[in-house]
Amino acid sequence: MKILVINSGSSSLKFQVIDSETERVLAKGLCERIGIDGRFTYRTDTGISLKEQTAMENHTQAVHIILDTLTDPEQGVISKFGEIDVVGHRLVHGGEKFTGSVVITQEVIQAMTECNDLAPLHNPANLVGVEACRTLMPDTLMVGVFDTAFNQTMEPKAFLYGLPYQYYEKHKIRRYGFHGISHRYVSRRAAQFMGQDPGRVKTIVCHLGNGASICAVKYGQVVDNSMGFTPLEGLVMGTRCGDVDPGALEFLSKKEGLDFQQIMTILNQESGVLGISKNFSSDFRELKDAEIKYHEKAALAREIFAYKVAKYVGSYAAAMNGVDNIVFTAGIGENDSDIREEICSYLEYLGIAIDELKNREEGEAVRISDASSKVNVLVIKTNEELEIAREAATVAKGLKKRPEKVGKGS
Ligand code: ADP
Repeated sequence: MKILVINSGSSSLKFQVIDSETERVLAKGLCERIGIDGRFTYRTDTGISLKEQTAMENHTQAVHIILDTLTDPEQGVISKFGEIDVVGHRLVHGGEKFTGSVVITQEVIQAMTECNDLAPLHNPANLVGVEACRTLMPDTLMVGVFDTAFNQTMEPKAFLYGLPYQYYEKHKIRRYGFHGISHRYVSRRAAQFMGQDPGRVKTIVCHLGNGASICAVKYGQVVDNSMGFTPLEGLVMGTRCGDVDPGALEFLSKKEGLDFQQIMTILNQESGVLGISKNFSSDFRELKDAEIKYHEKAALAREIFAYKVAKYVGSYAAAMNGVDNIVFTAGIGENDSDIREEICSYLEYLGIAIDELKNREEGEAVRISDASSKVNVLVIKTNEELEIAREAATVAKGLKKRPEKVGKGS
């Protein structure tokens, strides 16, 4: 099957065409600055590469450009739209309604719209991408893959806050956890790489990118995730604060005369390692370069980041009563060997021993713990698009099988 994977944001739209049998990426690209001045980037596995400024007033026009390019006789990888069997959409928030991937129908769109106020920045942008594809490819199967769905196995003891229960009942205020598509892919890939049955291992995935979260996956099911009601909770991130005492925020608002909206802007955009480094950078490469040059606050920001990751890993080892695999992934997790070493230095009590040379190796999947280590420590490149393509193919195959069963009188 040929799967078009779409990740639609408010002014950008990423795409890949993946052959689900070979798992080869036939083409991929990005529409940026939609509704502004439009940028289109495109690459195929045969070496064709485009980078151009192209006006795109809205997401429908962006999808139009993508489809025209994919079917172009010279630059394309398919001959007609109909060759796309399924479109797999990354959808950020499915609330409690969606515990797995679904065929996108009018009812699903309605249910997702009801989740919009849970993710006001992301869900409407995702839905615009869905609508654009439905308009231009009305006969193609659309599958929604949610970032929250994998985390829906968390039990109430993990997902409830210590708030009056009525607010959960009335408003569904609870922890949802995010990055589920990445955590699912990486935890399964780790087990496969180690020759383990995913249903029998305890894994802690550290997804360390601009947005960062840690996930405890026990026997294939999520036990806990460091992000909460929103992706603000948990680790110190690029620009997000992570866990903060709400009492400190009331104090801050009084001292600085800030309203809720202004406080939220600080927490989302001006905090994290950017804020700690006194606005030096949210980019870990720049922070590392500055640390070498004795930039005190850059060094402090990296130190706090690593310390917080180690604390979460420790608490998730406790939550699962043990851990077999610890996996680093995403921009920082995959590339910053110094941070990995620092995090692991807190975890010697778990019997973890890192092989320094292995820790500096690069690859799609590398085991960086040495033979004596009681826990496998791995670095695995995340691949959310492939996970979405797999999910979309699985849902599509399930649909194909159903009429056969009915035909056999089952
Ligand atoms: P997101 O998808 O959340 O935007 P990414 O997973 O792309 O984030 O990660 C971005 C982060 O990864 C940035 O802080 C960046 O500095 C960091 N990063 C990327 N490459 C490296 C590297 N070689 N060394 C250290 N950090 C890196």
